[in-house]
Amino acid sequence: MKRIFSGVQPTGNLHLGNYLGAIRNFVTLQDAYDCIYCVVDLHAITVWQEPGELRRATREVTAAYLAAGIDPQRCIIFNQSQVPEHAELAWIFNCVTRLGWLNRMTQFKEKAGKHRENASSGLYVYPNLMAADILAYKATHVPVGLELTRDIALKFNNDFGVEFFPLTEPLILGAATRVMSLRDGSKKMSKSEASDMSRINMTDGADAIQKKVRRATTDPDLLPGPEVLGPHQELPEETRRGRPEAYNLLGIYAALADKPLAEVLAEFEGAQFSHFKAVFTDLAVATLGPIGAEMKRLMDDPTTVDRVLADGAERARAIAGPILRETHDIVGFLRPG
Ligand code: ADP
Repeated sequence: MKRIFSGVQPTGNLHLGNYLGAIRNFVTLQDAYDCIYCVVDLHAITVWQEPGELRRATREVTAAYLAAGIDPQRCIIFNQSQVPEHAELAWIFNCVTRLGWLNRMTQFKEKAGKHRENASSGLYVYPNLMAADILAYKATHVPVGLELTRDIALKFNNDFGVEFFPLTEPLILGAATRVMSLRDGSKKMSKSEASDMSRINMTDGADAIQKKVRRATTDPDLLPGPEVLGPHQELPEETRRGRPEAYNLLGIYAALADKPLAEVLAEFEGAQFSHFKAVFTDLAVATLGPIGAEMKRLMDDPTTVDRVLADGAERARAIAGPILRETHDIVGFLRPG
């Protein structure tokens, strides 16, 4: 069976982008794949996390997985730090990856910002941990984010003359939903954006959603029709850039309604934003409302959430443990016979 590994960082403020761009896909994938979904707390601490908040956010991501419909019986749901194989394999990969590869990664530069000297070394080597996350299970596919994983697998296999780690493939999930900020259509909706008005959080209630959508940035024109689309029903980048906020809201609506953008454009052609926003709000509340409510219920029941994570960690270790032991043998580490 094809095996998928993916994860979300427990860094607070789970939002509509995390849902439409990641978690909702995780739910669909569980029907066709053997799925391992991680709460990547080791990645979270590459930048400072307040310990109490890290614990809360770890349970929140777990609650989001469950509330969105990931089945903890069929899938493995766990937090990364409970499975020491991730950190162990990451160390071995620290010794496989070349500094030149890491220097070319853009995420470090983006996250470290102007204060590179002050960034953690964990942030610098995060692609090695990411490769370890995926390869500790010999995952065949990932929905997002391979980064250096294939290069590391290939170099390990070559260095040791083995065919041990697979060359994991990216999953092509059709048009990726990229959710932009409600205040600025040129920026990604993000957990770390200071203004809460820029994002719809997965736990926002009807009032908050309504307020944020009402205040979302728009432009003075009426909504466009399907003629703006290219020959393959795609939205040309230049067109999107001309009205980023309008196309962001239309794209989110299409994703929430699970309809092609062409259909949504035909439906709202010539409409005022006020009308579209009202319909948008109803759909967002209907979709996210029950998920947010279930998340809150689960957050009030940490025993249940913690039990899911402990059970998932045990099942994860049952897969990763033997793969790590074989890796040790290949590297030449002695272990008790
Ligand atoms: P990051 O937010 O730094 O990508 P996370 O672990 O918090 O890291 O993200 C979890 C998942 O949510 C990732 O798969 C990421 O691609 C997705 N995601 C985050 N923000 C958005 C967005 N604005 N639109 C679509 N997907 C998003």
